[in-house]
Amino acid sequence: MSGESYAVVIPSIGRPSLFRLLETLAGQDGPLPVELVVADDRRAGDRLRLPALAIERVRVVRTQGRGPAAARNAGWRSVTSPWVVFLDDDVELPDGWAHALTDDLRATASDVAGNQARLRVPLPTHRPPTDWERGTAGLQDAAWATADMAYRREALEQLQGFDERFPRAYREDADLALRALRAGWRLTRGERVTVHPVRPADDLVSLRVQRGNADDVLMRALHGPDWRTDGDVPRGAFPRHLATVAALLSATASVIRGAHAPRKPRRARSRVALLAGSAWALLTADFLRRRLQPGPRPGAEGWAGEYRRMLVTSLVIPPAAVVHRIRGTWRWRHGAVAWPPPIRAVLFDRDGTLVHDEPYNGDPAKVRLVPEARAALDAVRAAGLRTAVVSNQSGIARGLITPDQVHAVNDEIDRQLGGLDTWQYCPHGPNDRCDCRKPEAGMILSAAKALGVEPYECLVIGDIGADVEAAVSAGARAVLVPTAVTRQDEIETAPRVAADLTEAVQIAIRATGPPVLPVIELAEVTEVTEARP
Ligand SMILES: [Mg+2]
Ligand SMILES: [Zn+2]
Repeated sequence: MSGESYAVVIPSIGRPSLFRLLETLAGQDGPLPVELVVADDRRAGDRLRLPALAIERVRVVRTQGRGPAAARNAGWRSVTSPWVVFLDDDVELPDGWAHALTDDLRATASDVAGNQARLRVPLPTHRPPTDWERGTAGLQDAAWATADMAYRREALEQLQGFDERFPRAYREDADLALRALRAGWRLTRGERVTVHPVRPADDLVSLRVQRGNADDVLMRALHGPDWRTDGDVPRGAFPRHLATVAALLSATASVIRGAHAPRKPRRARSRVALLAGSAWALLTADFLRRRLQPGPRPGAEGWAGEYRRMLVTSLVIPPAAVVHRIRGTWRWRHGAVAWPPPIRAVLFDRDGTLVHDEPYNGDPAKVRLVPEARAALDAVRAAGLRTAVVSNQSGIARGLITPDQVHAVNDEIDRQLGGLDTWQYCPHGPNDRCDCRKPEAGMILSAAKALGVEPYECLVIGDIGADVEAAVSAGARAVLVPTAVTRQDEIETAPRVAADLTEAVQIAIRATGPPVLPVIELAEVTEVTEARP
């Protein structure tokens, strides 16, 4: 495989723009990716049907609504190419993109973790852009935006990919870039151009993006108070929003308390109320003016809607920003450990992993534990880890066994193993297209929920590729313990392979500490450097 062979990973929520992107990818006359993964991050819904593409390996992994960071991780963990190109599902690739990408990757030195495309956001030419259009156009200058960013697989493996504690498409890209720089990698900008059209948005989009204020708290917890400077992230408007809200609260408090005060303090309080109220009005008017000034003038197409949107949201955004900041401060009040957080739970496959596989067994008397199973479970419990079983039981759908029989067998295994914290099984067959049957993520997500841990705090131990794939889709770590039924390709593609259950649980127990990564001071690191003159 040449150094420039690449995989494309697209996190998607099934927007129509995904199919437009795939069209522009398929239409490239340059080298196409050898692998394409669409990480379908919708919570539910029909399977995504992709059009036929001249790409060797095309896959859809379903990440069940865990956010773009988690979807991208499931995507890159499902490919083997040395380069992984992350594309957002709302970009379009102009002609010549694949050639330019190949040139970009070829020009990239071995100490470069990632190479970013140049984004172009087409704006209307017949009138000034709206607030939302200007916001999208801001992507053109954003450092390390993952709308089109190629990462070296080796770097993704070392850094364990995107931090899944960032729940939306916000800051997860800057976080990964900062960790790459700290680990001694460089990041470069390529010459390829990717088009990012402004997608339609409703009236409250500028209000919703305020949720990112909570993610900024996580950035600070992870990267320290200078994270904006270090990460090349522009200052936000938060200090102004905070001042606006403080003025509003102070005016309101003075009015309320003044009403209950004797006459003299009442006059003082009403002066305070007037001052604070004026400050709030001035700050709000200034915020509104700054949002309207670069936008469509009265008379231009759509100006009235834009004025209405800006007026309403300018009143609500400052308090929303403060509320989300408080929410984030509460969520991360104890700080945040480095990504990935330690393992807190071990999820075992049942048949072939904990017990010798007796196909469609409905008889507790036929349960035969794997010899080292009990000792392995004891070790896991002694390490303070939670335990679960995640087991496909399609014998139920096939009419070969009843749920009661499955329960009886599970109870017997649970007794012999000294009790596990939760049992999850899927009663469906391979053609039922449920969300729970491995390789789908469902059982791992529900086990994590039952145990009160996050999916990325789980490690799955199983004996076949479906166990590993389910773990990858769910964002859990995985260890394969091969048996006679394990295929060679499943062994080759597994992220970790252990000889037996004892070795597998030792891997889990070792992962209960903080991750060890080389860390260098950012002062020694060059900022974004140009890939080519
Ligand atoms: Mg099995
Ligand atoms: Zn199922």
